[in-house]
Amino acid sequence: MDIHNEENENFFDDDAFFLTRSRLYSLTPIGDAGWLKEGLRSYIIRLARAHRLSPRRLLRNVFGGASPKIADVVCNRFYIRDGGTVDGLGSYAQLFSDIVSQLTLRDDIADLTLQGWRDLLPKNGEGTLTKHPCWCPLCLGLQRDLLGHSYFPHVWSLTLYRTCSIHHIPLLEVCPHCSKVQPFFPLLPILGYCAYCRCALEPPEEVHKHISDVSIETELEDMLSRSQDSLQQISLNNFRVNLGAYIDTTFDGNKALFCRHMGWDNWAVKGWLNKGKQPSLPKLVKWAVATRTSAYDLCSGSVKDRSAAWPAAEVGKSALSAARQGLVWTPRNENKLAWRWPLSWLAKHLDR
Ligand SMILES: [Zn+2]
Ligand SMILES: [Zn+2]
Repeated sequence: MDIHNEENENFFDDDAFFLTRSRLYSLTPIGDAGWLKEGLRSYIIRLARAHRLSPRRLLRNVFGGASPKIADVVCNRFYIRDGGTVDGLGSYAQLFSDIVSQLTLRDDIADLTLQGWRDLLPKNGEGTLTKHPCWCPLCLGLQRDLLGHSYFPHVWSLTLYRTCSIHHIPLLEVCPHCSKVQPFFPLLPILGYCAYCRCALEPPEEVHKHISDVSIETELEDMLSRSQDSLQQISLNNFRVNLGAYIDTTFDGNKALFCRHMGWDNWAVKGWLNKGKQPSLPKLVKWAVATRTSAYDLCSGSVKDRSAAWPAAEVGKSALSAARQGLVWTPRNENKLAWRWPLSWLAKHLDR
C-alpha cells in the first residue's frame, strides 16, 4: 500500500488497524516440514527470546499483568516444578493457552497442549506428564544445526515417550555434565543448554543408537500431531462403542479374555464400557498399538464405518482358540494370574 497516496491517508485513523495487532509477536509454532509439533512451554520460552525477556519475567509481568489468575500462579515452584502442566489438559494448560492466544492473536495455541483430548483422558491422569523436562540430546543438536535454535517437541512432555523415534536413544532427564534436572522455565530464554552449568544438554561422548521398539512413541507423535479441529471428531462414546465392537469381533465378546490379552484387570474395561470412565493414556495407547490402529481412529467414527480397522475375524478366532488351548500365553508373574500376549505373536498375526 502506498501510504503517501491520499486515498489511503485515512487508513491509519482506523481503530481496527491497531486493535488487530497482537501485543506479543505472533510466532508460528514449530511443527511442519517434518518437525514434531512444539509444546506450549517451549513456545512460551521462544516467545520470551523473541522479545529479549527472561521467560520468568514474561510470565510474571506480561502474562501476570494481563491475567490476575496467572499472577497468583507464577512463582519459583511453578518455574521449577509445576510449569510442565501448561503442556497438559488441566486448568493450567487452558489458562496459559488462553493468555498466549490473546496476546499473540493466534488461534492454534491450544494445539500445543493436550486439551483436544480432554473428553477422552482423565484431567489428572497420573504419570501423563514428566516431572522434569526430558529431551533427546541428538535432536537438540540437529535442531540447532538446521533451525539455528533448539525447541522441545510436545511429545517429550509425556512420561510414556521414553525413546527418540528418530535416533532410537533414551531421552535424558538430567544434564550430562552436572547431573541436575532442569527447571521448566529457566531464567534465560534459551532451550538446549543447562540452566545451571550452561553447557549444551548433549553428552560429551559419542551416543550409540539402540535398537528398540518405538511403536508407542510413534503412536504418541500421531496423537499430538492432530489439530483441535480434527479432535472434535473424537469422543468417549466413540471409544466405548469401538471398544465394545472390538471385543465382540475379536474375542467373541469375552471381556475377561480381552483384559488378560492386554494384561489389565477386568474392572478397567467394565468401568469404560458400563460406567463412562475415561481410559488412561497408557492404556489407550497400548490398545492402539496392539490393534495397529491409531488412538485417534479408536476414539472417532464408529465401528460400523471402520470394520476394516480391526484384525480379521479369523485372526481373532485363532487367537481365541490358541489362548484357550494355552498355546501362546506366557506368565508375566507366577504369583498372580496375570498374563502377557507375546509381542512376536502379535507381529505375526496382526500384520495380515
Ligand atoms: Zn532424537
Ligand atoms: Zn549442567
